[in-house]
Amino acid sequence: MTHVSVSQKSVSSAHIHTVGVIGAGQMGSGIAQVIAAGGFDVRLLDINDAAIAKGMAVITKTLDKMLSRGKISAEDKAATLGHITTGTDYGAFADADLVIEAASENEAVKKAIFAQLCPVLKPEAIIASNTSSLSITRLGASTDRPGRFMGMHFMNPVPVMALVELIRGIATGEDTFGVVRDLVGRLGKTAVIAEDFPAFIVNRVLLPMINEAVYTLYEGVGSVANIDAAMRLGANHPMGPLELADFIGLDTCLAIMQVLHDGLADSKYRPCPLLVKYVEAGWLGRKSGRGFYDYSGEKPVPTR
Ligand code: NAD
Repeated sequence: MTHVSVSQKSVSSAHIHTVGVIGAGQMGSGIAQVIAAGGFDVRLLDINDAAIAKGMAVITKTLDKMLSRGKISAEDKAATLGHITTGTDYGAFADADLVIEAASENEAVKKAIFAQLCPVLKPEAIIASNTSSLSITRLGASTDRPGRFMGMHFMNPVPVMALVELIRGIATGEDTFGVVRDLVGRLGKTAVIAEDFPAFIVNRVLLPMINEAVYTLYEGVGSVANIDAAMRLGANHPMGPLELADFIGLDTCLAIMQVLHDGLADSKYRPCPLLVKYVEAGWLGRKSGRGFYDYSGEKPVPTR
């Protein structure tokens, strides 16, 4: 049980009505869905209509699955979709109380987004980044509101995973932190607090394990199928590490390892050359149809 001060407890997210989400990829689409299902108006933005259509198709498919399993009603599905509007124009964020940035894990991309976003926002609006690994302090410092900026790290797949890691930058105000923490509770999720160190808690532990699994493959210790079976059956992990890497996205995995390697300056975080090669080849995992498995057929087929 984490201790919270009285002032933190008293801050609520009651004034949050409209939430912007930037990036309609795996994470942004899930975040938009969960927030819309919580009854908030969501404005979902991406760079082009194709990316938005892809994100909305994922949301619709997920809601359909939930409907067929009896987890939600047809009215719930319609209400969730009814809360989401989409577009490519930052003007849509003028009335947003909170904007969650969930674009690609690239610091330059995120900073360019904040430069476009800040001028249209209300002064009191909060910005949260879903970054998996980048410094919240540094991202916040690139905006006009470091006190109203923080990390809000959802897990993949967002509608299923209970956790949201919350990260304060050095300048993050307690009110901002309290509002976002309260919102996480209203979304039915559980918050853990992580300090602003490279990759926070979950990925600091998870990604070196995935990177080690890629080294295990690279050095020929085991095949893709054997490495994954070994960790599923031998360590009781629900997914093997290579299957999980494909699920996360190999570009995201590599970006996080690079942040750990650069940020902590320890050679134990050196990204495996095989991971680098896969990303250079455009073999990014499930989202590109090929990674450690080939996803072109009915069932994923190991590629090594
Ligand atoms: P993704 O590649 O599925 O989606 C990224 C989206 O960002 C794409 O739709 C892309 O078009 C969009 N985008 C790129 N540049 C943009 C710009 N300038 N403006 C607007 N949109 C832009 O990636 P993802 O897995 O959804 O990851 C997004 C963020 O979430 C990253 O910061 C990542 O580290 C973080 N994250 C990922 C996971 C995961 O398991 N994949 C988990 C937690 C957090």
